[in-house]
Amino acid sequence: MSLLEAAPAPLVLPHATPLATPLDDARSQLSAAIGVLGYSDGLHSLLATPRREMTVAVPLRRDDGTTRLFTGYRVQHNLSRGPAKGGLRYSPNVTLDEVRALAMWMTWKCALLDVPYGGAKGGVTIDPRQFSQPELERVTRRYTSEILPIIGPEKDIPAPDMGTDERTMAWIMDTYSVNVGYTVPGIVTGKPISLGGSHGRASATSRGVTQMAIAALKHRGIRPEGATAAVQGFGKVGHDAAVFLTDAGVRVVGVSDQYGAVYNAAGLDCERLSAHVAATGRVVGFDGAEPIDGDALLELDVDLLVPAAVEGVLHEGNASRVTAPVIVEGANGPTSPAADLIFAANGQLVVPDILANAGGVIVSYFEWVQGNQAYWWNAAEVEHKLAERMLAAWHQVVDYAAARDLSLRAAATVLAVERVAEAHLLRGLYP
Ligand code: GLU
Repeated sequence: MSLLEAAPAPLVLPHATPLATPLDDARSQLSAAIGVLGYSDGLHSLLATPRREMTVAVPLRRDDGTTRLFTGYRVQHNLSRGPAKGGLRYSPNVTLDEVRALAMWMTWKCALLDVPYGGAKGGVTIDPRQFSQPELERVTRRYTSEILPIIGPEKDIPAPDMGTDERTMAWIMDTYSVNVGYTVPGIVTGKPISLGGSHGRASATSRGVTQMAIAALKHRGIRPEGATAAVQGFGKVGHDAAVFLTDAGVRVVGVSDQYGAVYNAAGLDCERLSAHVAATGRVVGFDGAEPIDGDALLELDVDLLVPAAVEGVLHEGNASRVTAPVIVEGANGPTSPAADLIFAANGQLVVPDILANAGGVIVSYFEWVQGNQAYWWNAAEVEHKLAERMLAAWHQVVDYAAARDLSLRAAATVLAVERVAEAHLLRGLYP
């Protein structure tokens, strides 16, 4: 039997828009910021180009004895402000260009929230739902050992992203620790609490999204209590965001996942819906709501839309049908630049990903700090510090946007790019 047998073609789900890739979108957002800042072409190219990229083959011995080969990536976009930081994504759609885009957004996110990191992202071209836990463990350990030379608690610190979770982080931590010969909690964040994970990390992104949604609704003169919302994605970010929004008095009338969407004008009972999803793996079929088309969810007549799934879902082809006055990006890169222009022309407020979903990396930073000090904070402390940072960044971005007549995305990107460029220029070029 050959080592690498012919593998069935991986399931490839189409991206929501064929118009532009996430990397096109990320580069075009950077160009717009460079235009405002008036930087030279040389500095622009430096900021647009990943500092370091690694592509690795990840062979898996399957439970049935056959072998499958996946491709893994780790891209470190920028290291000027500190070690690289960013999640690890398991998805059949992962490409090097997608990981490059996600790594660039991490650089801006960390700079905007003033956490002392550069940006990185990793990915493996695997659909985790098609593999057993022991298979995922072997893939994770092999991927980790392949990228071992470029990661470390002071070099590059992975965290969960789509398709990975705290269990994945435990395997990475163990593989790294066994290889260096001692336990290194700071090699990853988003670990289980019993291994040095932080209280509040698992729900941090959704908490931050909710804080930004409440702030944005108020900014628009809409009372959050009784406002209506639609949430695209019912995974790590969307699920808890729907719950926290409901707790804050927002009526979440629609949610979707990759299989479909459900709607109830009176508001969804998130607890019962969660139980249904735990039992069936999807939102459709829930008896407390009617099924609707997944794309139609984005176009519901609601006060707040939270795209919390994948990149590129709001694009030139559907943006003019999206009527929510407030859009809060739980996902990375859900809105294309063309859609941004349409939303701006229609007076809709978009809270950009690098601000809206930064709660995750903020608490990742707290986890890293706690691990470095071997001193743990309680949940209330974490939540308080998270809210403080999110709201401070919100005010900075809103004030900067108002002072320069920019969209929130442009303001957030300009602020972040300026901080990265300043660090780079102060350090100077070597040699
Ligand atoms: N994957 C998350 C993000 O996109 C978190 C990254 C981290 O905590 O390092 O922001």
